[in-house]
Amino acid sequence: MTIFQKIIDREIPADILHEDERCIVFRDISPQAPVHLLIVPKKLIPRVGEALPEDEAVLGHLLLTAAAVSTRLGLNSSTEGFRLVINNGRAGGEAVPHLHIHLLAGRQLGWPPG
Ligand code: 5GP
Repeated sequence: MTIFQKIIDREIPADILHEDERCIVFRDISPQAPVHLLIVPKKLIPRVGEALPEDEAVLGHLLLTAAAVSTRLGLNSSTEGFRLVINNGRAGGEAVPHLHIHLLAGRQLGWPPG
């Protein structure tokens, strides 16, 4: 069981900003920007590279949830902004094998990423 499943199951605490039947959004424990959220499906999809055709709706829901949460936090404007990141596999920087989208905001983000 991953750490994110334990957060979903309320076995360990997290600063939760949003929850619905398909996903949960909480603050990253080690923030890389002033705003660093994790958007996590309740279904255990290990990584986006292993998503199935039947996951199409939940994958879309994660992006729409990112947009909704960013709006709620005042980040969804032309002057503000945010970045969504999915780390996939070892070289991609994945540490937790439960699909999650990072939402980073609150500072000017560099490009290319490290
Ligand atoms: P990955 O490297 O897999 O894309 O991202 C995993 C993220 O999960 C990291 O940014 C890490 O800081 C975060 N994380 C790991 N353990 C915990 C935890 O127990 N609680 C929270 N809120 N975030 C965690």
